[in-house]
Amino acid sequence: MDSHRRRFLCLLSVLIPSLWNGLPRTSFPDLDEKSTFSYITSGSKYSKKVALTFDDGWYMYNDATESILDTFKKYELKSTFFVVGCEMKKSKELWQRAIDEGHILMNHTQTHRCLDTLSKFGMKYELFGWEDSYDSLERGNPLRILRFPANAGANNLWVYEQLCDLGFYYGAGWSIDSNDWKRAADTSSNVQYVKDNILPYLDNGKIVLQHCLPSSASALEDIILHCLEHNLEIVKLTELPGTPVYIPKKRYFVIR
Ligand SMILES: [Zn+2]
Repeated sequence: MDSHRRRFLCLLSVLIPSLWNGLPRTSFPDLDEKSTFSYITSGSKYSKKVALTFDDGWYMYNDATESILDTFKKYELKSTFFVVGCEMKKSKELWQRAIDEGHILMNHTQTHRCLDTLSKFGMKYELFGWEDSYDSLERGNPLRILRFPANAGANNLWVYEQLCDLGFYYGAGWSIDSNDWKRAADTSSNVQYVKDNILPYLDNGKIVLQHCLPSSASALEDIILHCLEHNLEIVKLTELPGTPVYIPKKRYFVIR
C-alpha cells in the first residue's frame, strides 16, 4: 500500500467515528419541511450514553422531586423532566430550580389527559396550555418534544396528524420502563423493584422512564453509580445521539 493511500485510510478511520459521535444523524428540520411525526424510543446503540427521564412532577411528591434534583446536583448530571403544566404552575420555584440547574423541561400536557380521548381543540388546549405554564417560569428554551400521558395515542396515526397540524412533530417514548408508579412509596422493596426494572437493561442509547416519586428518588443514586461503573454517560434527551432530537454541543435549535 502506498503512503498516500495509507494516510487516506488512516484519516478515514479517525474521521468516521468522530463524525458518528459528533454530528447529528438527523437534525431538527424546519417546521415547514417536517410533515410526519417521529416517535423516539432509544438513541444510538453505538454511543455509551443513556437518558434518564422523569415524568409528571405532582405537587404532592415535591419532596421526591427535590431529592432527585439534589442527587443530580451531587453528581453534576442533567436530566429531562416531562412535567404536567398545571403542576409546574403550582411549584414554580421548584421547576425554576430545575431549569437553573441545567435540566430540560418538556411537554407532558397541561392536565395529563389521554390525547386519544380528545378532539383537536382539546389537544390544542393541553399542548399550548403547557407552553403557557412554561412561559410563567424564567425560561430556558422550550422544545416541542412531547411525552404522551399514559402513552395513550402513541401509536395512533390520527393523533399524529392532529399533532403535526398543531406544530408538534416529536414524541418521546422510552426503552426501559421502571414501572415505579406501581410502587411509589419509599420502602426498600419498592426501591429494589425500581432498580430491578432498570439496571439489568441499561445499555447504550437507552431512554429510561421514571416518575418524580419517592421510590424512584431513592433508587436514583444507585442507578447513577451503576452507570458510572459501566462507563455509561447520563445525558439529557437532546444530547442522546441517534435520536432525531439530538442537539450536538455548541449548536442550538429552537423549534417553536
Ligand atoms: Zn405522566
